[in-house]
Amino acid sequence: MTRTISVLGATGSIGASTLDLIRRERDKWRVVALTANGNARELAALAREFGAEVAVVADESALAALRDALAGSGIEAAAGPGALIDAAALGAEVTVAAIVGCAGLAPTMAAIERGGIIALANKEALVSAGDVMMAAVERHGATLLPVDSEHNAIFQCLQGNDIAHVRAITLTASGGPFRDWTTEQLQRATPAEAVRHPNWSMGAKISVDSATMMNKGLEFIEAFHLFPVGVERLRIIVHPQSIVHSMVEYRDGSTLAQLGPSDMRVPIASALAWPARMDTPCDPLDLATIGQLTFRAPDEQRFPATRLAREAVIAGGAAPAVLNAANEMAVAAFLGGQIGFTRIVQCCEDVLAHGLAPAPRSLAEVIAVDAEARARALELMEPVR
Ligand code: NAD
Ligand code: MG
Repeated sequence: MTRTISVLGATGSIGASTLDLIRRERDKWRVVALTANGNARELAALAREFGAEVAVVADESALAALRDALAGSGIEAAAGPGALIDAAALGAEVTVAAIVGCAGLAPTMAAIERGGIIALANKEALVSAGDVMMAAVERHGATLLPVDSEHNAIFQCLQGNDIAHVRAITLTASGGPFRDWTTEQLQRATPAEAVRHPNWSMGAKISVDSATMMNKGLEFIEAFHLFPVGVERLRIIVHPQSIVHSMVEYRDGSTLAQLGPSDMRVPIASALAWPARMDTPCDPLDLATIGQLTFRAPDEQRFPATRLAREAVIAGGAAPAVLNAANEMAVAAFLGGQIGFTRIVQCCEDVLAHGLAPAPRSLAEVIAVDAEARARALELMEPVR
């Protein structure tokens, strides 16, 4: 039996890992839509390889190149934010939401509205839309399966258990490439150093988030929505080896953990095959070679991002969307060489301190909050640009 699948963000790191798994079981899948930002040539090659029905670039100026590259293939080419939403709404049984940033929100919501399975990597969408997205999942009977390795681990540790018996959920964090750096060193950290992650190979934005620990902050907010145990039961622990992907502690003192290699194909496979299992080409976990698994408390003095995220969840309303938008702008400015590394989280704190709009109640309101926070972040960064 074949299943239909769409991959939003097909040319990215998660997109590539997803397609690598599909490539190994081509007879089991029929690819509906593949999307990318502007890389028409790479997208067209993937669309041809997988026999996609539709290929969409978000950037309209890439449409001509996409049409050229798809000429004679019979694959429909489209461009622009509306086309992205239309592609997501084609109703594949499984939609892998792997666009980076809040740009993925509207297409992900369109897929949710079709009520299928959403394999969610695009954490920024859930952080921004929070209650709006979870309500849509409920209303449309969609199934939201977390791909983010920590949340996928937690999801697995919750299977067969009643969430009412959970005492704590602990997200593990690698600590990123700068986990042992001093504040003075952090101030001089460069984009090249920030994107060089010790354990994971990922897109540039999430690599910087991992270096600031904002990735763990966003994941804290993501967990808050996916696993309704309350903010006081959510914890973060630094685990440099990235082998234990997260843990769930129950009232009787049992803690369940999910372990695996640091390879996103494992959590992606778990979502693609759910509730069954599928093979992956990943190296099996060799604990004897790894030798030691270590854990330590996070240092919120050097890495205040997780504190900011916790405060944003507690503040509620528009705060998580504002935090996410400010962070996206600040990370882009850092990668562009316009601001220093420690200014990223400072910028988020400054934008949040500016006062908050009321809680967004619809997709349009989330997008408005996001746009306003982006403008505010730009203003605040202006003097140092
Ligand atoms: P990436 O930068 O490698 O890929 C991003 C994809 O989104 C690309 O296909 C790109 O073309 C597309 N894209 C970028 N901007 C867009 C826009 N404005 N409109 C439409 N499409 C756009 O990123 P990634 O590392 O694959 O991460 C994707 C998402 O998955 C992020 O939300 C990230 O936080 C999450 N995630 C990634 C990893 C990982 O290991 N890479 C792990 C967990 C979660
Ligand atoms: Mg993660």
